[in-house]
Formats: sequence, C-alpha cells, structure tokens
Amino acid sequence: MKVSFHGAVGEVTGSCTMLEVDGQKILIDCGLFQGSNFAEGKNFEDFSFNPKEISAVILTHAHLDHIGRLPKLIKNGFSGLIYATPPTADLVGLVLEDAYEIMEYNHKKFGTPLLYRLEDVNSVTARMKTYHYENTFNLGRGFFNRKKINVTFHEAGHIFGSAFVEINTEGKKLIFSGDIGNVNVPILQDTSDLPEKVDFLLCESTYGNRLHPTNLDRKTAIEIKIKEAMMRGGTLLIPAFSIERTQELLYALNELVDVEGKFKNIPIFLDSPLSIRATRVFQRHTQYYDKEAFKYLSADRNIFEFSNLTLCESREDSKKINAVPGSKIIIAGAGMMNGGRILHHALRYLTDEKSTLLFVGFQAQGTLGRRILLGESPVRVLGERLPVKCYVDSLDILSAHGDQKKLIHWLGSARKWPKHIFLNHGETEVTRAFAEKINEEFGIEPVLAAPHTEYEI
Ligand SMILES: [Zn+2]
Repeated sequence: MKVSFHGAVGEVTGSCTMLEVDGQKILIDCGLFQGSNFAEGKNFEDFSFNPKEISAVILTHAHLDHIGRLPKLIKNGFSGLIYATPPTADLVGLVLEDAYEIMEYNHKKFGTPLLYRLEDVNSVTARMKTYHYENTFNLGRGFFNRKKINVTFHEAGHIFGSAFVEINTEGKKLIFSGDIGNVNVPILQDTSDLPEKVDFLLCESTYGNRLHPTNLDRKTAIEIKIKEAMMRGGTLLIPAFSIERTQELLYALNELVDVEGKFKNIPIFLDSPLSIRATRVFQRHTQYYDKEAFKYLSADRNIFEFSNLTLCESREDSKKINAVPGSKIIIAGAGMMNGGRILHHALRYLTDEKSTLLFVGFQAQGTLGRRILLGESPVRVLGERLPVKCYVDSLDILSAHGDQKKLIHWLGSARKWPKHIFLNHGETEVTRAFAEKINEEFGIEPVLAAPHTEYEI
C-alpha cells in the first residue's frame, strides 16, 4: 500500500493525505490552504490526483484546514461517502457554509474567484456518514476482489468531535493523527492512547518544538488577561476560532460571571454567527463532554451563556456594538484575523492605545494575526493602512494543540514502536526539531513527509 501527502507539508494548513490500498484511493482530510488570504491561490490549482478515483474521505475534525477543499473535490468529480464522528459532521456543514459566505462576499466586493458552488457545499453534507468513537466500520464496497478496510475513530482531544483515525487493512495497522489536542482541555475528554502494535503512524507537529506554559489553569489565565485589559481602560478584542476556543472562553466566562460574580458589569459580545451556531452543536452532543462539563451541566443548563453576554448573529447586531460606550469585550472570528468580523472591529480599535488585542491561538505564517503578533506596524486592514497602537497580548495556554511534551507522551503510549513514523502539519524547522526530539527520546528517525511523493509502506 502507498501513502502520499497533498497538503500540510512544511506548513500547518491544507491537510490532505492519500492512502492507496489494493487500487482503492482514500483521502484522510481535504483541507483548505490558509495564509494571508482566506483561500490561498494554491487552493485553485488542480488536485495532484484525480478526484473521480477517490472512493472515500475520512475526516479527523471540522477545522477548515482539514475540510475546506471537500466542496472542490466534489465539484471536480468525487462521488463517494465522507466519514466522520457525529459532532464533526454537524460542524462540517456550518464551517463550509460560513467559508462559502466569506468567499462570496470577497467575490462580490473584490472580484476574487469562487473556489466552488453552494450546491457543492450541500453535496458534502448530504454525503456524510457518521460513526461514534470506538465503533469500527468497513470501507470496502463489497467487491470480492476488494480488501477489507476497517476504520475506527479515537478521541483526539483537539476540538469537539475530533478524532485520530485507525485503519486496519492487509494485516497492517495505520494511524493518522489529525490534530492532537492539548492537556486538560475543558469540555473535551482526554486524547485516547494509541492502540497496540501500530505499523504506520502519521503524526502532526504544529507545536513540535514548543512547550505551553503550565503554571496556571485556563480560567485563572483568562481572568488575569481580562483584568489587565480592563485596567488599560479600552476594549478587549479577542480574535477567536469559532469552534472550541470560543466555547472554552464562554465556558470559563460563564463560571467567572455566573458562579464567581466577576466582570458582571462588562458587556461581552460574541460577534460571530459561526461561533453561535457551533455552540448549539456542543449543546446537542452532551455525551461527548468530559466528566467535569457533564457534572457542571446538571447544575447549570446553559454552560455557555451568562447575563452580560450578547450574541450577535446578524450584521445589524454586529454594528450595534459600536454604539455601546465604555470598556467591553468583543469575541469575533476569524482567529488568525484572515477574514471575518474581527477585521471591522480592528479598524476601530487597533489604533486605540487603551484597547487590547488578545490572541488565543496559533497564528499561521502570512496571516494578519501573525504579523501583528510579531510587531509589524502599520498593517493593512480591509484596504486601510493602520498603525498598531493597541496593546498586543497572547494567551498560549488556550492552545487547541498539544505541545512537544504532549505529542511525545502520546507517541510514547504506543507499547510497541511503529515501523514507520511520518511527520506532517508543521512549519519545516518545527517539524525538523520535533523529529530530532523523537530520535532523542525513542531512538527512531521519523520521515518528514514531502509533497506529492508516494511512500510504499
Ligand atoms: Zn485542527
């Protein structure tokens, strides 16, 4: 069998890995390349394979950089099923609809081309087939000459519904990590251990060279950052990833406001239709919560909403935020500031010395978020050049990705070391540093995945 990589090589976006078994071609994820633009030019290039030949797609989770090219795959001829966990399937529809809206907006306003049609998005949701964690299913189409391909989703602890994928075929066990989550993530269950006797393992390396700070719990860290921002006297802007990070923030704020009575007088706005809809998905699948969130739920039916929170779904609701006087907190997407309503708020508050811009997640190379975080000023926002005068802060503790220690711990959960270990989903120097660490810890040299290269395994 063969494995090849068609994205997320030397970078953290565009995840798309192909497994070829006995003539069947299967994709694990089919994500969007994201950098300075919402949809990078690379997304418009032809796939380096024929989408008509793909028999199925297996999704690890609903982040756009893992699912964003699915409608294009369908537009270009893919006609098979798409497998995911039930929360992932619900989130996929929301994320792709939202992405289409942004693309359509950019198309009308700036003339940027559309990557696919709305009907292709609808085709994606129509083809989803769901399985819970630990429920093995068979991908084979029943042809006598086709080998069985058994697939199992395991908890990845990265975002709601996220999975790492186990595939058993031709007597081999293969693992595709997707994105591996951080430790002690609220709401989510912990990442499952690796199964025994793995033959091939593909591991992400986003934070392969870094350690997250561990001296504070998340709620306390959020509380400190809010207090500091409010002392500056302006508005606190939080560019938030709509899935997981936003719900984590709401979950912590709910406890701070409703249980501990803090920040009750500060208006808080969730200015993101996608975040609001994604929160409803969290509310629908409570069986995916960890023990703590489940217990919390029995005391407070609404663990994501509190008295001073305003949900802004329409553009009109969003515009009304401007008229609210005094200090306030605005949570808006996109998390890397490469689109979305956060840009409209940035126009207003980036130049305000009293205001704070707080990053709560990974900022990919080329994004506006990364440039501001690195101290670039002035920056261009929606066509305007603005000096960055606000206080720029970041909160690494909320990362949805495991750091080097967590990834090493997860790899170490394999009782017998895999014969093949491949690394992807990291900036080149980070992946290289992670490979060295793996070598140091386990005495094995991982293969750094190269694009469009076939590896016989
Ligand atoms: Zn992800």
